[in-house]
Amino acid sequence: MADSEAGNRRLVARINSYQDAMRALPDAELRAKTDEFRGRIAKGERLDNLLPEAYAAVREAALRVVGKFPYDNQVLAAIVMHQGDIAAMKTGEGKSLTATLPLYLNGLSGRGAMLVTVNGYLARRDAEEFRPVFEFMGLRLAIGVPEPGADDFSVAEKKQIYSADVIYSTSDKVGFDYLLENLAGTSAEKYLRPFNYVLIDEADAILLDLAQMPLVISGSPRVQSNLYPLADAFVATLRADVEYEYDESRGVVTLTEAGIAAANRFFHVENIYAPEYFQLNRHLNLALRARTSFEPMRDYMVLGDRLVLLSSVTGRLLEGNKLQGGLHQAIEGREGLDITTENRAMASVTYQNLFLMFDRMGGMTGTAKGAEKELLKTYGTALIEIPTYRPVIRVDEPDVVVQTIDEKERLILDYIDEVRETGRPMLITTSSVKSSMRFSQYLLDRGIEHNLLNALSEAKEAEMVREAGRKGAITVATLMAGRGTDIKVEDDAKAVGGLVIIGTEKFPNQRVEGQIRGRAGRQGDPGSSRFYASMQDDLFVKFGSVKQEDVLKRRRSAAGMLRLLNRAQRASEDSASGARKLSKDFDIAMARQRDLVYAVRNQIITGAPITRQEVEGIAAQVFSDAVAAQAGGGRGALMRYVFDNLSYQLPDEFHSVDTSSATQVKEFLSRMFSRAMQEKVDILADDDVFTRFQNIVFLKSIDVAWVEQVDFLEQLKTVVQDRNLAQHKVEYEYRREAFFAFEEMKKRINQDIVRLLCLSRIERGSDGGLVIQFA
Ligand code: ADP
Ligand code: MG
Repeated sequence: MADSEAGNRRLVARINSYQDAMRALPDAELRAKTDEFRGRIAKGERLDNLLPEAYAAVREAALRVVGKFPYDNQVLAAIVMHQGDIAAMKTGEGKSLTATLPLYLNGLSGRGAMLVTVNGYLARRDAEEFRPVFEFMGLRLAIGVPEPGADDFSVAEKKQIYSADVIYSTSDKVGFDYLLENLAGTSAEKYLRPFNYVLIDEADAILLDLAQMPLVISGSPRVQSNLYPLADAFVATLRADVEYEYDESRGVVTLTEAGIAAANRFFHVENIYAPEYFQLNRHLNLALRARTSFEPMRDYMVLGDRLVLLSSVTGRLLEGNKLQGGLHQAIEGREGLDITTENRAMASVTYQNLFLMFDRMGGMTGTAKGAEKELLKTYGTALIEIPTYRPVIRVDEPDVVVQTIDEKERLILDYIDEVRETGRPMLITTSSVKSSMRFSQYLLDRGIEHNLLNALSEAKEAEMVREAGRKGAITVATLMAGRGTDIKVEDDAKAVGGLVIIGTEKFPNQRVEGQIRGRAGRQGDPGSSRFYASMQDDLFVKFGSVKQEDVLKRRRSAAGMLRLLNRAQRASEDSASGARKLSKDFDIAMARQRDLVYAVRNQIITGAPITRQEVEGIAAQVFSDAVAAQAGGGRGALMRYVFDNLSYQLPDEFHSVDTSSATQVKEFLSRMFSRAMQEKVDILADDDVFTRFQNIVFLKSIDVAWVEQVDFLEQLKTVVQDRNLAQHKVEYEYRREAFFAFEEMKKRINQDIVRLLCLSRIERGSDGGLVIQFA
């Protein structure tokens, strides 16, 4: 590491050595550098080799166009980002400007350089600010997210966007576009190029916190289940540790023997775990989870008659987002709301596997402390700390730890009074909407003016953030990751000591705490931070090594309590990282299948036409399986099979087939299939049109089966997780069942292909086109 650090410092020096030469160039010649670089790339020069000159050129352009010249530390960070690592740059250090360097360099290759961030607002804001720099240098920039409220882009627009040199977008938009493109029916509907370079802003939020939930495209609604309220009614009667056990740290809940007996009685079944009760069992697990792992005002809110999720990362309302696999409906059941429709998952991908598809991935983040190992293991990216431009003079005070929440809150209120005397602005950070409202109420009770910034006050967010840096301002807020709007401390507030950060509890990981502290002391401002914690905090309840009923039994030293709390925080970090690993492992099994399916689809869409021989080979295999499955079924079974799969009419030779001879039956079916194909060719009288028909049938058969498979895999995740197995076993079971299901799916696809090819009606439309009526 030290080597590469020294190497990178030398690189910065080399970039600086081009500074005067670049400065001396008239605008037109500076712009002409782009053509020169492109020419050198075309001749085989590597980007690494071009980096010093290219960085020097775009740096000069930034100065000329937006009046900002990237500092050496920013250039150092830009090198790290190009090398495929993550630059840790504190809030306010200028990540957005820095990003223009690697984006320019990687955009030169003509293969596309993408910046992704957490929301559309930030993507648009940064793109608009730096668009003039790229355009000055002759690169085309596109914004990948539509304006708020606007419809998604058309395919034509997406082609335009994704062929740009530099693209600013969000992680979920790129993920959804990837999934959507792979639902395309013809090559004309494709718009993505192979993924080349991606730079991830707020990398810790995207790569770690958001990575747990896969992106899912929902399709047709599933048949509505009425089991949710029933399952909840049953679960409401169960007692923790008697009928069920909840492992808080793993988030896994399982029925005990007594619980299983109670379930069998309640639902009048012999054994709830029997395969025929898969759905009942699934609903029970969901209802149990809804009651144990989810808490109103922390994980979700009930707004009127709607359930709306809360982001644990940004503290925002996740309008329109739903938990997958029926969990959403289970919580609706718990809250007595109308059950919304549960849609089938049609396509899904996790961020981990999405970003691993890029040839190169770089990142930037304010803090990723404590996650270095995981980032390296999961993504192969190192985290490189970049020194700040001005030294940080914020004072991070030691944590204040006490036994009870009451004691803690008294101390916090005392501290608030103390700070008020000084006139320093305060940011009081809480972990949930609920506790933000509690603190707000305390302040109201004492007649203290303040702003409350949480998921319910988003409309006024910008204004509140602006006020938060004024002298005497008090802001109570939930987590603020990715808010993108910094608190700018005003001069008179700096003069009295700057912003005070008060953390009202220990948070689930060090990163979040770092982020919260980082709100103060940006760009060398004065400021301080202090966290309060108690042994009754959520973190300790969930991950602590001492049971709550024993917490108050003895007096502990502050140092002893802090040790226990830090240990709980590490347990929480391990648990989250375990959950991310599991989610990734799940997706790896699915990714293999997804890659295969997408590759076959692509081959059909863009490859050479499927030959008659290939199709007949598929049919022969299908018939062979069918004959094996129906052995001994006799003439009646064969007749059914023909009607269901090949033709609505029996040919004369049907009566002379010896149904006891597998070979004769197979040959008969194959002959029927060939005749059916020949008829279609004759009707269409055009090979191209026939190929089109065949392609459509293949794609339709694949899509129907794959959508079902994706949906099944989503459900399988929750089912195997609740089997209470060790983690490696969970993954193994999932992979095993996923594999069998895939083999079944392949057979189903081939059966469908044969059936649709034979039984669909086709004709030439009046315009000469193809009209298909699927069987
Ligand atoms: P971050 O995302 O790292 O928190 P921003 O990219 O939002 O920081 O930048 C913070 C502020 O610093 C912005 O107003 C930006 O324009 C300014 N800034 C960053 N780098 C420079 C620079 N080299 N010269 C002048 N201003 C800069
Ligand atoms: Mg930023």
